[in-house]
Amino acid sequence: MTALSKRASLDAAEKAIGVIRENDGEVTTPSFELWFTHFSGVNPGLSDALEKALTERGALDDAALQSLHAEFLGGAGPSDKIAALTTAICDRVSAVGDAMAGRSEDYRSYSDALADALSRFDDASQKGEMKPLVSALTDATRVMATKNAELRQQLSDADEELSTMRENIRSIQSEALTDGLTGVANRKHFDQFMDETLKACAEAELPSCLVIGDVDHFKSFNDQWGHQVGDTVLKLVAGILSANVKGRDLVARYGGEEFAIILPDTTLPDSVKLADRLRAEIAKRRLTKRHTNETIGHVTISFGVAQLRPGEDAGAAIERADRALYRAKDTGRNRVVGETELES
Ligand code: GH3
Ligand code: MG
Ligand code: MG
Repeated sequence: MTALSKRASLDAAEKAIGVIRENDGEVTTPSFELWFTHFSGVNPGLSDALEKALTERGALDDAALQSLHAEFLGGAGPSDKIAALTTAICDRVSAVGDAMAGRSEDYRSYSDALADALSRFDDASQKGEMKPLVSALTDATRVMATKNAELRQQLSDADEELSTMRENIRSIQSEALTDGLTGVANRKHFDQFMDETLKACAEAELPSCLVIGDVDHFKSFNDQWGHQVGDTVLKLVAGILSANVKGRDLVARYGGEEFAIILPDTTLPDSVKLADRLRAEIAKRRLTKRHTNETIGHVTISFGVAQLRPGEDAGAAIERADRALYRAKDTGRNRVVGETELES
């Protein structure tokens, strides 16, 4: 759970600007973000792909840069997409508004035509000139009927378009809370759910727990099998965790190879038991390389468990779960430690 130090982030920023300048490129947000992420070393998959592209092509052209950015940094972020959708919705709503305004003009002419016809009605009936009057009214009514049908169609098109946009917003919102690699909740979702659970726990005095897990010796696993295999294993671990908790629980990717699980309405002994089941489930999987069937062996994970205390903030609970996790690492890994063991 280490954040980049101030020195390291300044170094990475300087290197990023240096390399863009060297290649006579323009410092844009995506180019800076890509090189900065590479030099900070926080995204090994991106660094591998970037180095591969450099070896193959000698330099990064705009297309390569964009494709790397889209693959590893998600291209346009959810907030950009929401902004684009909001603009589209506003445009659509004002188009419908314009159509309604135009149609109200049409109604005015129609009612003017009716008023005019009525004023001439008495006079005409006396003179026996009903036929042209009736025909003028029929024409005006026919025009109105066509315009009404057009308006109905426009409204139904707009309605369909707006529901597609609503769907898109829903999927962007869920994308914004989901980890791109593993499909479980991301850090932002974890933070939100943690705050909600702490609040509920203070209000209802329900016992709730936080479990933090960290894959054991994952660095050497990556070194031996490569980051892509590492990524597949992270997906597998996330899948096992999600499949073995209840719907009200939240599994999140906390950081690189670290996962957090929030268990509302669950006591510490029950949470420790559950974490141990998850641990055993992961340890018993025998892994093979998909294409070559080569035996990889297995991965293990260590867990620390803390019970949330009414009134505390998320950081305090995370700190206790983290300490329990490190105790699990120190005492052999592939273990679960509950916070009560910290006292002994
Ligand atoms: P420990 O048992 O003490 O946790 O050892 P460790 O090697 O797992 O711990 P360390 O924190 O030294 O290394 C974590 C490694 O996880 C480093 C990094 O290469 C790897 N990692 C982090 N995020 C990702 C990812 O998204 N994909 C892959 N493949 N590896 C990742
Ligand atoms: Mg770690
Ligand atoms: Mg680890």
